Amino acid sequence: MTAARRPLVAGNWKMNKTGVEAREYIARLRAHLGETALPADVAICPPFTALEATARAASGSPIRVLAQAVHEAAKGAHTGEISAAMITAAGADGCLVGHSERRAAGETDDQVAARVRAALDAGLQVILCCGESLEQREAGETESWLTGQLTSALAGVRPDEVGAFAIAYEPIWAIGTGRTATPEIAQAACAHVRAVASATLDGDVLRVLYGGSVTPETAGDLMAQPDIDGSLVGGASLDPDAFAAIVRAS
Ligand code: PEP
Repeated sequence: MTAARRPLVAGNWKMNKTGVEAREYIARLRAHLGETALPADVAICPPFTALEATARAASGSPIRVLAQAVHEAAKGAHTGEISAAMITAAGADGCLVGHSERRAAGETDDQVAARVRAALDAGLQVILCCGESLEQREAGETESWLTGQLTSALAGVRPDEVGAFAIAYEPIWAIGTGRTATPEIAQAACAHVRAVASATLDGDVLRVLYGGSVTPETAGDLMAQPDIDGSLVGGASLDPDAFAAIVRAS
């Protein structure tokens, strides 16, 4: 990271934790983080059913709360989906868009672009996810794949929205596998993400995160890279002790 950009560390709980568990977790995380100035902005992404409980528990703290997904429509016949207005009404501040686990379940580039736009229009913070598969990396297609994902997702984003926006580079082969990308691989990809996004957003301001099996042990070396401004953390974010250690290492 550079001193010009404040790091952002976000924990993605995926399909884990009830509202009761979320309250206990946030109480412990608040105790860990304390009232002193933190080295990073901190966000938690609970499942929809725990959004409100998490937001209430985090109220008055620096912890922001983001949904894990959003639908582009304001309302209607979209079983199992959640609108931007519902996220706001739950007391949350933003959402992830385009996580690879959602894309694998059928979310298309066009939907990702529409969902980014819907979230920004509703005043939500957005963490846009992108990343290549192992096959794409081994075929030398990482950069062209990331360029395609980002060009599509950013098509409707305005330059003045950079403050509400972050991009998480998450190589699919590193998510949930325990196989963290090396700092060099993560840095090269995050630099590419920044270069592509700079066609739309001020690259000096835009926060680019790395995600993929980040742990308290690997966080420091990753965060020391010039184009990595934080992390999106899955498994290790389920434990408030480990997540607080990652925040402290940022
Ligand atoms: C994620 O789901 O965004 C993620 C990075 O997961 P993990 O840290 O478990 O690899």
